Amino acid sequence: MLPTTVPNRLPTEPPLNRYQEDVNSFHIAQKQFDRALAHLPTLQHGLIDFLRSPIRSIALNFPVEMDDGRVQTFAGYRVLHSRIRGPGKGGVRYHPDVTEDEVRALAGWMTWKTALIDVPFGGAKGGVVCDPKTLSQGELRRITRRFIADLGDNIGPHTDIPAPDLYTNQQTMAWIYDTYDGLHPGENNLPVVTGKPMDLGGSYGRGEATARGVLFAAQRLLQRKAVPGLNSVDGARVIVQGFGNAGSIAAKLFHEQGAIIIGASDSQGAILCRDGLDVAAVASCKAEHGAVAHYPQANVITNEELLEAECDILIPAAMENQIHAGNASRIACKLVCEAANGPTTPAADDILRERRIVVLPDILANAGGVCVSYFEWVQNIENEQWDLEEVNGKLLKKMCRAVDAVVDRWQQLGGERKTDLRTAALALAIERVAHVALARGIWP
Ligand code: NAD
Repeated sequence: MLPTTVPNRLPTEPPLNRYQEDVNSFHIAQKQFDRALAHLPTLQHGLIDFLRSPIRSIALNFPVEMDDGRVQTFAGYRVLHSRIRGPGKGGVRYHPDVTEDEVRALAGWMTWKTALIDVPFGGAKGGVVCDPKTLSQGELRRITRRFIADLGDNIGPHTDIPAPDLYTNQQTMAWIYDTYDGLHPGENNLPVVTGKPMDLGGSYGRGEATARGVLFAAQRLLQRKAVPGLNSVDGARVIVQGFGNAGSIAAKLFHEQGAIIIGASDSQGAILCRDGLDVAAVASCKAEHGAVAHYPQANVITNEELLEAECDILIPAAMENQIHAGNASRIACKLVCEAANGPTTPAADDILRERRIVVLPDILANAGGVCVSYFEWVQNIENEQWDLEEVNGKLLKKMCRAVDAVVDRWQQLGGERKTDLRTAALALAIERVAHVALARGIWP
């Protein structure tokens, strides 16, 4: 089933933030790519063009009946950046600010992430422009079903496999599975989507995987002595921006490893407590009242203030472009651990490097999510179920191997004097993907 209508794609000026930075995520992804290319002098020009942009971008307009009987039309996107190393893989986000360019950027980052963590996938991403906070469960279900039905065979267990992202969850994945399964009866369709509920082919450990991967990556990076003045998560003071799937679980897991979580935020506001937050109590408060700022035993501050508060590890786990030219000079941590995708702009990367603040980049730090998605996919294909210890043990190995490979490359490139971990990680990932492209050969 092909897309029936395509939304208007009018050329627009790139969005600038108030520091005159171009914060178009796709432009940022390309800038990062170009920085890495400086370290890959032998890569052929034609191949560079091929890897720099997505191979396919689908834009849909689709109608949904709302609870009050009105029909509302939604825009949705599914972008496949690369399938050189395997089928496309990437989450679906529901957010009012979703744009095709944002999804294109996120799809590319998935290609580099799957290459770094070394799972046999390419990169893809999807998004629907909607505000989940104003939608009922019935409306979200109908949006999901229509989006997936209209995507038709552009997704599939061996072509392009969705997963959760911002404001989508296990329930969304169950609807995606059910819709696809209804259209393809009589087949094992479980591997068409990951992040499913446990009793519908989900994997032990997938819900926590992104955050657990962030923890493993940070621990390995510190073991490798890559962060000046910080040797362990144990005793480190940590601030988490965004208290959703990635952020709230990261807070819990870092706390379990001896870190002191001194600050947290969500879209409604931020809290800070120098003596340490009771992470479980903050989570209950968020579950009950919908915002961390209702937690009584902490100071309520603004989201901007939280990012600039002094700590050892800052974990952005919300949205893109949070650390930018305007605040990078005031970020007061030793390590930025990017649980979110794209939270740091290129200008901020430069400022942080000058200030010797290390950034553990998104394509490495949050790769635990897609890693356990891969484990889920394998279990679905084999009709197997692995226990939690097996999943976490395999994840630990994959994360450590990926961090080691990136740190080794970074050191080969001259370490902090010459470049940052993001550029080293990207150079390694691009090289891996290019190598497979050339091994397969260009057809015909
Ligand atoms: P989520 O919807 O579960 O949580 C997002 C959280 O961020 C919410 O608590 C929301 O209130 C908060 N938030 C939104 N805007 C904010 C702002 N301006 N300031 C502070 N908080 C804000 O989403 P998630 O799945 O946890 O994803 C968060 C980030 O992690 C995204 O960048 C996503 O792409 C990335 N990520 C997620 C996964 C995954 O498996 N879920 C995997 C890799 C990367």
